[in-house]
Amino acid sequence: MADSHRLMTEALHNLQVHQEELRAQNEELHEAHGHIEKVSARYRDLFEYSPVGYFIINDSFTVVDANITGMGMLSRTKGRIAGKPFLLFVDKKCRQELDGHFATVRSVGRASTELWLLPDQRPPFPVILESVRLGEGWGEGWRCLSTAMDITGRKLAELALRESETRFRAIFEQSPLAIQIVDAGSAPRLSNRSWVKLWGQVSTIPTGGKHPVLSRIGAENLLTEGLAGRSLEISAIHVAAEGERTKDRWVHGYAYPIRGQDDSIPEVVLVHEDITERKRIELALTEQTALLRRQYENLRVLSEIAALPPGPASQKLAHALDLGRRHLDLTMGMISRVEGSRFTVEHHSAAEDTALADGMVFDLASTYCALVMEQDDVVAIAHWARSPHADHPCYRTHGLESYVGAPIRVQGKVYGTVNFSSARPSQREFDDGDKEFMRLLARWIGAVLEEDAIRRDLARSNAELEQFAYIASHDLRSPLRQVSSYVSLLSRRYGDKLDADAREFIAFAHDGAVRMDQLVVDLLEFSRIGRDAKPIELVALTEVVREACANLHTGILDANGTVDIAGTLPMIKGAASDLVRLFQNLIGNAIKYRLPDRPPVVTISADTGAMSHVVTIRDNGIGIQPEYFDTIFGVFKRLHTPDKYEGTGIGLAICKKIIDQHCGRIWVESTPGDGTAFHMELPRGV
Ligand code: ADP
Repeated sequence: MADSHRLMTEALHNLQVHQEELRAQNEELHEAHGHIEKVSARYRDLFEYSPVGYFIINDSFTVVDANITGMGMLSRTKGRIAGKPFLLFVDKKCRQELDGHFATVRSVGRASTELWLLPDQRPPFPVILESVRLGEGWGEGWRCLSTAMDITGRKLAELALRESETRFRAIFEQSPLAIQIVDAGSAPRLSNRSWVKLWGQVSTIPTGGKHPVLSRIGAENLLTEGLAGRSLEISAIHVAAEGERTKDRWVHGYAYPIRGQDDSIPEVVLVHEDITERKRIELALTEQTALLRRQYENLRVLSEIAALPPGPASQKLAHALDLGRRHLDLTMGMISRVEGSRFTVEHHSAAEDTALADGMVFDLASTYCALVMEQDDVVAIAHWARSPHADHPCYRTHGLESYVGAPIRVQGKVYGTVNFSSARPSQREFDDGDKEFMRLLARWIGAVLEEDAIRRDLARSNAELEQFAYIASHDLRSPLRQVSSYVSLLSRRYGDKLDADAREFIAFAHDGAVRMDQLVVDLLEFSRIGRDAKPIELVALTEVVREACANLHTGILDANGTVDIAGTLPMIKGAASDLVRLFQNLIGNAIKYRLPDRPPVVTISADTGAMSHVVTIRDNGIGIQPEYFDTIFGVFKRLHTPDKYEGTGIGLAICKKIIDQHCGRIWVESTPGDGTAFHMELPRGV
């Protein structure tokens, strides 16, 4: 019993110990449980509030669980997610990807796919879905944990990047500028369409550090500068015609570096623009401007030639040759007469000492003028050797390297040529403007020669006329003198034996002879005006008037007339004796054509303008009917019979001739019964 008691006690003790152990263990367990609960709660929080969405999905791809973030992503409560196929929460367009995703998880244990989740009432958004198969501890059957990370921000950035990339690529590709990106080893990396259009297909064959285009057009500095970190612009690179391209081209070149992150320069951008058209227009414009300038010069010289002062033709022609020679920048100029094969130098002008002289005769065939005669137009040779006339004998005979000549026509017939030449090539090509200049110059020379020929003809016929007038007057005057002396003799010897009628007839015959003599003398004087080379000088008109009045003294006195000078009279450039004759005729007429009841008053005045003087002689005489204002200046034009007013009708014709000689004009104003005013316009002498 005792044993059993001891055993019982022992058992009890053991039980107590065990109980105590159990309690301690229980406490420990309790503590551990509390700890686990805490940890589990923390993990739960971690799970729930993780920044990524968690979805636990079973083998039928149904959502078993989702964390709060996951629910937020889908805008749905757990109740609306759990037990539903995950497919429902994915954008339709990504469903195939999702199938693939789970298939991969199934076979490999994990997968990562980009797809779009479909939240409730909100637009889909992109996520990266990463799924791993879960172990046994996650419940029965196959399960996986899918993590969804919102990548909207990244996607937006990507999208923006792609958009800008597309935009810039479009700009790059569509740009009318040829653009190429070249790496540090001169190899082309990227070329746009315009580049290919401008330079042809980009070759992929390595060029050993040489840029295929830049080295060809001699613009490698674009690349070297770019690689050295500097931009460079070359405004016009000349690209010589080559192969299929039969025309020269011009390119505007620009290069700038692209800097890498470490400030290195891995690439250079080359920008080329084909400016051939612009350059062509620019060149054409420059050419046109030069042409215009030359045309202007041509016109200036021609107008200078046309404005050469009056003088002998030979002087004018020599002057024109001088101007033409200088204008064309050639050393010799000449006007030649061509008759058959004979070429005569008529006028010449030379910059240097030359053996050339007026009157020299050459064989036409040995001169370039033969070509002018042949073509009947301008021939221009700027550089003999380069011209189509390199085999012409003129170079061998006369050594002329440059020549420009034009045919001269006088009275419709070819007369010869005007030509300019030099033993050196011309500094420039002769253009259409120069040819036109030659044509106009030749026309002007033709007109001068024609005028000269007419003047010579006129001088000859005038000389003949003068000769005739002299002979006529001389020859006429002696029989006239004979008639009048015999008539005088008749009246002296037989006057008393004749009756009154006969004596009157004799008196008429005598008057007629005297009058005829006066006519012949006046005619002779008229034909002589301007013929004799009288000295041209500055003459004081006051003096002229005084002398004329002195010559008319008796007549003025007899008529009880006065001659006044109103104001001052100018100095006139002219022949003094002719001017005296002019005023004598006009003052004489003013006295002669007076009214019987009014003593004649003659007033002489002058008005001086910018270019000329207008001198007026006014009288208070009988006046002239307006219809005779012009006719009175003709030879033998009279308005009265000699019995009323004496005269031959030649006085005003002489006045007009003198005024013409002085390059002036004369006209009349008059009121019959009131008086007459003769006006004369004369160029200013000083
Ligand atoms: P002439 O006096 O010898 O007849 P002129 O040639 O001098 O010849 O003049 C031509 C005509 O003009 C004159 O006949 C006259 O009728 C007219 N005449 C010229 N001067 C005057 C004048 N001062 N007043 C009126 N008539 C004039």
